[in-house]
Amino acid sequence: MFDKSRKLFENSQGVIPGGVNSPVRAFRAVGGTPIFFREAEGAYLRDVDGNRFIDYVGSWGPAILGHAHPAVVAAVQERAAKGLSFGAPTEAEFELASRLVELLPSIEQVRLTSSGTEATMSAIRLARGFTGRNKIIKFEGCYHGHGDALLVKAGSGALTFGNPSSAGVPPEVVANTLVLPYNDTDSLDEAFRNIGDETACVIIEPIAGNMNFVMPAKTYLDFLRSLCTKYGVVLIFDEVMTGFRVGLGGAQGYFGIKPDLTTLGKVIGGGMPVGAFGGRRDIMAHLAPLGAVYQAGTLSGNPVAVAAGLKTLELIARPGFFEALAMRTGDLIAGLTDAADAEGVPFSGTSLGGMFGIFFRSQVPTDYSGVMETDRDRFNRFFHAMLNRGIYLAPSAYEAGFVSAAHTINDIAETVSAARASFAEIR
Ligand SMILES: *Cc1c(COP(=O)(O)O)cnc(C)c1O
Repeated sequence: MFDKSRKLFENSQGVIPGGVNSPVRAFRAVGGTPIFFREAEGAYLRDVDGNRFIDYVGSWGPAILGHAHPAVVAAVQERAAKGLSFGAPTEAEFELASRLVELLPSIEQVRLTSSGTEATMSAIRLARGFTGRNKIIKFEGCYHGHGDALLVKAGSGALTFGNPSSAGVPPEVVANTLVLPYNDTDSLDEAFRNIGDETACVIIEPIAGNMNFVMPAKTYLDFLRSLCTKYGVVLIFDEVMTGFRVGLGGAQGYFGIKPDLTTLGKVIGGGMPVGAFGGRRDIMAHLAPLGAVYQAGTLSGNPVAVAAGLKTLELIARPGFFEALAMRTGDLIAGLTDAADAEGVPFSGTSLGGMFGIFFRSQVPTDYSGVMETDRDRFNRFFHAMLNRGIYLAPSAYEAGFVSAAHTINDIAETVSAARASFAEIR
């Protein structure tokens, strides 16, 4: 069934480390060989062997309209024919920035980058330049791209600074990064009492999408907001994944909380490389060329990428878009939960907008340690059972899932029936 993918993977490993350009693609977590895709349309992926899959990864979020949406493809083609890149300002950048400012009221000014990683790295540098402080706080299980200062494993106690979680990151680079448990009020309170005055920023996924899908308590985020205000700490919501995924206002709209800075990516490029960071005007004014914090990019605000983002944002802002998407995603979770129940498999699931989490444990987790208690071995067998039935899930028990506007009721029904058979197989 996967012969050509196997062959390509074998060959790729000769010239690309691990055969992939981003580690999770290698299927190391679930075992087996990664699928090489040839094309995609709507909710479906087609691989090099000609197999068709219903896709619940959506390129890790961006494909919210489904793959190759005709209007997005047309916008890209039209723009590409007029020049791929100028390294100079274009009107479309102004339009995308204006759109972001309009959709997310916490953003007064915004700068475009080419990836989410650049956006978070730049936001942290900006927060440090703005406050003149060095320390930053992040949370266990939250991912903010592969910038040095953010690749930190939690230390042993709540107040020990972290160790690098990647070789090649000098300990002194993460010596100023404190890692706290997610969704835990006491450790937050203690940390601010100890180092609130020396802290430049807190960066958080306001809904976590990189330890599977975990919702924090609103009271927790409210408390975080009030502490940041009290201590003059810049609050950064990393909405690279949740922005325009859980709703048109992102997680900040859902919770009604205004961060000082927001980082964006994924959906705002509609499948093309676009990231962004923005927020309070007085903070953004510290960026070069206005201020002393340097940040730049040859392809930042690339016209073709921006065209895809603008068209995507236009289409998802249509009335009723997120209501329909949330309902479809909710149907999927309800169907999967019923199927697991029927086969007696301990299982739970949750969703918001077009994002979801499924867990092989009976309760939805609320933090990293809860996520770690899911039955990983069972997920891995489920993943392959579903793959063999034409359903493409994220190849790890610790990733969120995504539904697009192109997924039909029939796609959901097909998925649920594949799941019922898969649960029976792995029980
Ligand atoms: C994907 C992601 C990033 C990194 O974005 P890239 O475009 O992969 O560099 C940062 N933060 C969050 C929350 C993400 O989900």
